[in-house]
Amino acid sequence: MKQLTNRIHYLPHDPDTDRPILSAICGDHQTLIVDAGNSDKHTKLFLDELNQSQIANYHSVVLTHWHWDHSLGTNQMNLLTIAHENTKMHLEKMMEYDWSDEALDNRVEKGLENQFCSDMIKKEFGEDRNITIKLPSITFKDKYEIELGGIRCVVKHVGGDHSEDSSIIYVEGEKVLFLGDCLYPSIYTQQPQYKVENVRHLLENIEMFDAEFYVLSHEPPFSKEDFMGYIMLLKLICDLTEKHQGNHSNLVNELSTQLNRNLSQLEEEIIYCFSNGLIVD
Ligand SMILES: [Zn+2]
Repeated sequence: MKQLTNRIHYLPHDPDTDRPILSAICGDHQTLIVDAGNSDKHTKLFLDELNQSQIANYHSVVLTHWHWDHSLGTNQMNLLTIAHENTKMHLEKMMEYDWSDEALDNRVEKGLENQFCSDMIKKEFGEDRNITIKLPSITFKDKYEIELGGIRCVVKHVGGDHSEDSSIIYVEGEKVLFLGDCLYPSIYTQQPQYKVENVRHLLENIEMFDAEFYVLSHEPPFSKEDFMGYIMLLKLICDLTEKHQGNHSNLVNELSTQLNRNLSQLEEEIIYCFSNGLIVD
């Protein structure tokens, strides 16, 4: 467990089985959990750590989106669950799923599951795939506010390419914004993609909140300065994608000229996703 601010503790992400960050926001009276974990084991690890830190009085768990790695621990979490209405809709679909190797391979073949997720589910659960999907008790459309005592959290639906049900959680006072996976590209399209209009809309929503720390689920938390650098880069690539209409090499050349250096692997990947977003439909 790590501590981000006075009132926010988190279990860091673990790329080994694609475990996302799990966080606890501690108010004077109650504690809000962000994301439920990718398995009973993951959730239990987090709850045990919270116990050891004497964190209790849980208000609820908020799901940032429906993807397996954020939601399969919900049953083990055994708390009131809050999520966007589309998150619930997707989880309802997941309730019908069989989790055997065969069923997973089948869904990958049909394009209903992503190869990487399927591999990670097999690795996280091993042979024991006793998976129970628990639906959220409370859903919202646009926004949901939670008062924890001396601290207020705003849950806001933002959507985006990664998952249209994505919601972010802003912790007032602590100035922390939990972004879930909303800034990552799509994973259920043929190729990972970003669409310029979706990214711009997402960034507008994110910029409505004034934060000092930005928490993306699969990497260490960003400082304000680093995050602003990342936002500027995405905006610049949006503009260049439009200007060059998906001409990949022109895009790479101009970005590299503007930054006055060779592009990093991450920058190359981002450009690739934006090019895919133009080609598809
Ligand atoms: Zn995700």
